This record gives sequence, C-alpha cells and structure tokens, in this order.
Amino acid sequence: MTEAIRHVALVAHDNKKSELIAWVSRNRDALSRCSLITTGTTGKLVAQEAGLEVERLQSGPLGGDQQIGARISEGRVDLLIFFWDPLEPMSHDPDIKALLRIATLWNIPIACNESSADFIVSSPCFSSYQRRQPDFSVYQSRSVATVA
Ligand code: PGA
Repeated sequence: MTEAIRHVALVAHDNKKSELIAWVSRNRDALSRCSLITTGTTGKLVAQEAGLEVERLQSGPLGGDQQIGARISEGRVDLLIFFWDPLEPMSHDPDIKALLRIATLWNIPIACNESSADFIVSSPCFSSYQRRQPDFSVYQSRSVATVA
C-alpha cells in the first residue's frame, strides 16, 4: 500500500539549527501536513521560528535521540531529517550513531544535510511511497544457545 510521508522526525545539532530552521521554513507547506516530532531545543526553534506544531521530546544529549529511535522501532516515523554536525565531537555520539543505525535498520529515509532533505521533500515518493518493511523473522527465530 502506498502512503504519503506523514510522520517526520526533525533533529539538528547546535551549529546546524539555523540551516534546519531555514529548510523547515522553506518547506512549511509540506511539513504542515505531517506530524512532527523533534528533540527538545530543535523543536522549540521550529515552533518559534516556523510556527509549526511539534511534539517535543527530550533534548538530544538528555535522551531525545534515543526517544526518536524508539519511535522508529515502533513504526511511528516515516522520515528522519537529522542535520548532525560533522565538525564537532558530541557528548552523545553513541546516541547519534544509534539513531542513524536504527533508522537504517528499519529502512527509514534519512536526510543528514540540506540537499538530501531537498531531494526527499521534492520527490514524488514524499506523497506516495510503499516502503519495504524489513523482515526480521529469520533473526527473530534464530536459535541461541542457552546452556553453556
Ligand atoms: P536538541 O538536541 O534539539 O535538544 O538540541 C539535538 C541533539 O543534539 O541531538
């Protein structure tokens, strides 16, 4: 079944927040038809500067990236826009890696910079796409030794 992108997660590191806000503002129409979840500070700025309603989770370093990862594994995110900062080491680098890993695992489209985000939002797939749901049945039914 094809569906439009409806649930979008937005995250930007501090040095990338102005870039994300500009991108969100340029794509306000498309995003206003979606439900948005964000990490804490990103969401505050998206609401303030672009006037969009968002569900704000924790700030990234306080667990927000992990909350978004959990939403992805629950099948509640269709697109991840994650403007991470390639020039700064972060206290929560393991969480960032985990978020990118879980989005990749679940075959969620990910944009890590402005041009990728432009490609995604302007694609026909934004309004109609059948995302393949990964099949983990082999992994889930694998046998695991329980006795040493
Ligand atoms: P923030 O978190 O939106 O609360 O700044 C983003 C992050 O650093 O992952």
